[in-house]
Amino acid sequence: MRLLTCKETTRLVSQGLDRELAFGERVALRLHLAICIGCRRAGRQMRYLRQAVRKLAVVDVRSSR
Ligand SMILES: [Zn+2]
Repeated sequence: MRLLTCKETTRLVSQGLDRELAFGERVALRLHLAICIGCRRAGRQMRYLRQAVRKLAVVDVRSSR
């Protein structure tokens, strides 16, 4: 198995929020996150932003009706 680059890792992290990752992708992702604190931080931030956006979206829908 080859190691992912940081770019590939962040892309997988964001895809993982939208779809189920393949087993190989999850393993490669975890492996990279285990050695790369930059991507760990980026991944946390991405999840946080995604949740914040979802909350905003819910508020939007409610207030527009
Ligand atoms: Zn990285």
